[in-house]
Amino acid sequence: MKPESKLPFSNCTHCGLCLPVCPTYQQSGDENNSPRGRLRLWSEEAAGRLPADPWTDFYSAQCLGCLACESACPAHVPYGQLFERTRHEQASTGRFRPRLPLRLAAALLRRGRLLDLALSPLRLWRRLGLPLHPLLPPGRPALWQDSASYAAALMQRHRPNGPRVALLTGCLTEAALREINFATLRVLIENNCQVVVPRQQVCCGAMLEHSGQDGVEALRQRNRDAFASLEVEAVLSNAAGCGFALQKTLQPEIAVRDVLSFLAELGPKRRQRAANDGRRLHVDLPCHLLHGQRQGGIAPSVLDATGLPWALAPMAAECCGSGGVYNVQQPAEARAILQRKAAFLEQAAGDPPVLATANPVCMMQWHSARSLGLVNRHFEVRHVLELLDPGPL
Ligand code: SF4
Ligand code: SF4
Repeated sequence: MKPESKLPFSNCTHCGLCLPVCPTYQQSGDENNSPRGRLRLWSEEAAGRLPADPWTDFYSAQCLGCLACESACPAHVPYGQLFERTRHEQASTGRFRPRLPLRLAAALLRRGRLLDLALSPLRLWRRLGLPLHPLLPPGRPALWQDSASYAAALMQRHRPNGPRVALLTGCLTEAALREINFATLRVLIENNCQVVVPRQQVCCGAMLEHSGQDGVEALRQRNRDAFASLEVEAVLSNAAGCGFALQKTLQPEIAVRDVLSFLAELGPKRRQRAANDGRRLHVDLPCHLLHGQRQGGIAPSVLDATGLPWALAPMAAECCGSGGVYNVQQPAEARAILQRKAAFLEQAAGDPPVLATANPVCMMQWHSARSLGLVNRHFEVRHVLELLDPGPL
């Protein structure tokens, strides 16, 4: 028996309480496409009662990895861990093949900052406002200045003396959506936090975990080395999935927190808005914030501090279809899930309505609702930190 087979599948009592929260079960009504069904397939195979079967591979590949089933499970079945190990086993034996962009990204990530270099033309493209890919929202990232040097410059200029924290910049966020990191730094420094951004940090490993690829432990070790000696109160993340992956790497020795939950404790400065600002926020909650980091959501005090009226989006606690890398690996299925969730935007309040979330990969998925024509009306997609951003400091 392979080591991966010695997992506690038997925890599952088959109660079915996870079925109503599972997006793939809701879409298909197929028991095999549910958490309970997948666990059954994997355990039967591990016990040797079911041969390795293409249908098991198919149903495994359908899973978003959203972890909603973990939160719903009264027996505390560690579904996410079981799923990651199964996917890794299937990828190593050729039963699951990550798509080419994921294999290329993995090869670059294992070599440290190469992804950053490889994606620099993409930052230029975004700055020029040219359409590039349905998943890429508009924005104006810095071309060459990185978050570490921007943080050092802001610290030098403002000399905050509050809590000392570090920022996880995230491989994709720093390479492609760097303006979110810059906004995060401005918000933290405006709220008197001392922020350090170690250049030695690397990808948190979530992308490799989601796609079953090798190299996660090497990245984790590099991050342990990068964050170990900083003497910070917490390492903060502005990406729910990356924060969850870093929690698994650094805790309990070093606390890892979502930036928004950290700000909620500080009581963030409130933005003032013009009386004729017609925007309304519709807040969507990232799965890895709810079910990975187990945050109850985004604190109302933080959303109030944006200075804009807000409400939770319909089905806010359900996966948008991003699923870490699901929208790259299974684009048609991800689109169907998003279409169902995004339909409300056609009629949503606001001029324009703003879809606000707390994870860059969820932002990319929501932006695709616009670029792929799933929603015909104009709407904006923003990270909550962009809505708290004081602008140039
Ligand atoms: S992780 Fe999400 S998609 Fe996968 S089985 Fe659980 S609830 Fe369903
Ligand atoms: S809720 Fe937990 S115990 Fe119940 S069927 Fe789902 S995985 Fe099994």
